[in-house]
Amino acid sequence: MAGGSTLNSFQIAQQQLDKAAAALGLDPQVTAVLREPTRTFVLNFPVRMDDGSIRVFRGYRVQYNDARGPTKGGLRFHQDETLDDVKALAAWMTWKCAVVDIPLGGGKGGIVVDPATLSEREKERVCRGWVDQMWKNIGPRMDVPAPDVGTTPQMMGWMMDEYCKRVGEYTPGVITGKLVGGGGSLGRTAATGFGVVVTIREALKVLKIDSKKSTVAIQGFGNVAQYAAQLFVELLGGKVLCVSCWDRGDKKAYTFSKDSGVDGKFLQSITDQYGTIDKAKAKAAGYVIEDADAWLSKPATILIPAALGNSITADNVSKIQDTVKIIAEGANGPTVPEAEAILLKKGITFVPDFLCNAGGVTCSYFEQVQNDMNFYWTEDEVNKRLDDKMSAAFRAVHEMAQTKKVDMRIAAYMVAVERVAWAMHMRGWI
Ligand code: GLU
Repeated sequence: MAGGSTLNSFQIAQQQLDKAAAALGLDPQVTAVLREPTRTFVLNFPVRMDDGSIRVFRGYRVQYNDARGPTKGGLRFHQDETLDDVKALAAWMTWKCAVVDIPLGGGKGGIVVDPATLSEREKERVCRGWVDQMWKNIGPRMDVPAPDVGTTPQMMGWMMDEYCKRVGEYTPGVITGKLVGGGGSLGRTAATGFGVVVTIREALKVLKIDSKKSTVAIQGFGNVAQYAAQLFVELLGGKVLCVSCWDRGDKKAYTFSKDSGVDGKFLQSITDQYGTIDKAKAKAAGYVIEDADAWLSKPATILIPAALGNSITADNVSKIQDTVKIIAEGANGPTVPEAEAILLKKGITFVPDFLCNAGGVTCSYFEQVQNDMNFYWTEDEVNKRLDDKMSAAFRAVHEMAQTKKVDMRIAAYMVAVERVAWAMHMRGWI
């Protein structure tokens, strides 16, 4: 409930759906089906800790809508996880898979824990414990988890292994985001950042802005931000003004900038697995370290909020400079509705979250396809297919925005909701 908003993320997701449904003239009975998740699991399971004690962990899985295919979406390991957050994220996964037109529904899950407080062995036992509870209700044709905040490819490997043991056969397609060589796909680690950069490229094209003269300020330095920072320079020739990161030791965020431009690869090399950049090494390499919110007031062409939700709020929106033309939402739900309304009035173009960050799940879908075929593509093949899917999705949303005279978020909802409603109709649900 940041920035004075009285809505939690699930209520925001429902409000966004209502707006799109009204714009589409959707039958209210159909909207009612789409406003709530189909199945919700709340788990409490015991895990033996390294010191011999037993700790109870709370886990969630929400299977939001499976009209277009098995539910698909990540698992988040975060101490502040709530059921309503997971429900919102599962709804957004439904729209995300539909907007990029992959044959999957939407789901999401989580475990309430700060993974950095667990040893590797404890982490493994928590992963296996979650699968222990859920294995009868997940599977390649049912519900397919994946990485999200606080997870690693190794954790996906443990979960796959536990599932395979339960069902008694090698079933790598039960989970995606696995390690390459262990059922993973080339390109998956960079895929979300890659997709963010592809949608930025398309947005710059329609706004007729030269990518080589454009600059970006990035919030966050987890998986999405790390690759978005590198690929924005490599593929579009632009400059990264700054990235921010959460410092685990100091329990606060910092912004890292450099006049000559941020070197994403270098910063990645001095960042731990939870996204904390080594301040001393960054300083020695000439980086200026400022306060958390400094990223927001940089004179950039593009802002990429790629940390957690609710980061651009009514309280801080005034810090955004007039230079900003595009906000590309790498994170899920980073802009609260009040702030969005102000920014839309200023003429800023949004690449909304479930379009902007759909590269990860699109590559997850490719991973599943490769698992099914038991035949693996080269990185170039993966990236080519990913680029095609992401740019087609951007074009469909942009065309909807132009023809219906709505903003990009509502347009994205309209494209996605229409596809899900059609699948429900085809199956005789509505
Ligand atoms: N957690 C990622 C997302 O929010 C990826 C989901 C997936 O690959 O299924 O899109």
